[in-house]
Amino acid sequence: MALNRLCGREKVKSQAWKLPSAAQSLCPVCLQVIDAKLYEQDGQVLMGKSCGEHGSFKELISTDAKFFLKMRRTHYERPSGVDNPNCENDSHCPDGCGLCEQHLSTPAMINIDLTNRCNLNCPVCFASSNTTGRMCEVSLEQVEKMLNAGRNIKPHPASCLQYVGGEPTIHPNFLEAVRMAKPMGFAQIQAASNGLRFAQSPEFTEAAAEAGLDVVYLQFDGLSDEIYIRLRGRPLLETKMKAVENIGKAGMRVVLVPTIAKGLNDHQLGDILQFAIENVDVITAISWQPVAITGRIEESRRREMRFTTADLARALFEQSGFIDMYRDWYPFSVVSPFARLIEIVKGQPQMRISCHPHCGCATYLIDRKSTRLNSSHIPLSRMPSSA
Ligand SMILES: [Zn+2]
Ligand SMILES: [Zn+2]
Repeated sequence: MALNRLCGREKVKSQAWKLPSAAQSLCPVCLQVIDAKLYEQDGQVLMGKSCGEHGSFKELISTDAKFFLKMRRTHYERPSGVDNPNCENDSHCPDGCGLCEQHLSTPAMINIDLTNRCNLNCPVCFASSNTTGRMCEVSLEQVEKMLNAGRNIKPHPASCLQYVGGEPTIHPNFLEAVRMAKPMGFAQIQAASNGLRFAQSPEFTEAAAEAGLDVVYLQFDGLSDEIYIRLRGRPLLETKMKAVENIGKAGMRVVLVPTIAKGLNDHQLGDILQFAIENVDVITAISWQPVAITGRIEESRRREMRFTTADLARALFEQSGFIDMYRDWYPFSVVSPFARLIEIVKGQPQMRISCHPHCGCATYLIDRKSTRLNSSHIPLSRMPSSA
């Protein structure tokens, strides 16, 4: 009961956490906000919605209703809101945001697009880099303004910074942008990168570390060149290995970021996990990114390609044999009660992660070598019973 009061469980309980439930979504044609309904069918979770003008739509949200409902049940939400919203003309999400007043919490991390240029030309690209026909690159003055805005968000400033793109490392002032951010109080500075510059130049890698870069959020789609040729248009495995080596030597850390495309590299999840475990001195995390299925693709084709968080959890269990799909995964907000506790002890606002329970989920692995039990890794949620 005390924990419930501390972390705001009452608020979550008061919402309809069962299926069917109501939601809001967008019409995929006119992008108007429309009412939607989430419901279970054959063990899966679907969203039904209709736009007065463009008809009805049906989307697959999760391939496993049990997994979906566990994420909802363990979601801790105690919104702090944003004290100083920054939007013009009463605009707000999804049309205008800077942040707007609709956000439940301040951001854990801000992403700044340094450039839309890239030194790769991937068939699969989140950012449509190199395909828009125009260049968009921010100046150092603009970067400084955005960094200040991020650190000025109340009640809690953005804790982490990630430079993204395009390929952020090819911005002519990338190192200055990192150096500028360092004294502003960001706990961690990351660059989301394909790793080419880090692989090609140990000098550049050293300079990035010296400027204050902490983590390279490294695009890493698998452990065979066939995958890179299909996803990125060229063989890149050796480049990725060199990047990990150079980044580690420079004293920085790597988060592997595999883009998961169904039927293309979803059979390599276990191998990627094993590679991370073997290089745990450099690689601190894996950020699995199921490829976003957006745009006006036929429903049957969307359904065929969609790879939900439940699919990821199931495939990882099948391939690793030790990360249980239902027991070991939690929504990010599960750390919120601890933030609230620190808030009370320190008397200062702390970041409360309010990330939607179906937007992402996480698990921690503990290296049991450090506990001298044996050499395997186990999920944190299994520690009390098997340590
Ligand atoms: Zn519409
Ligand atoms: Zn907003």
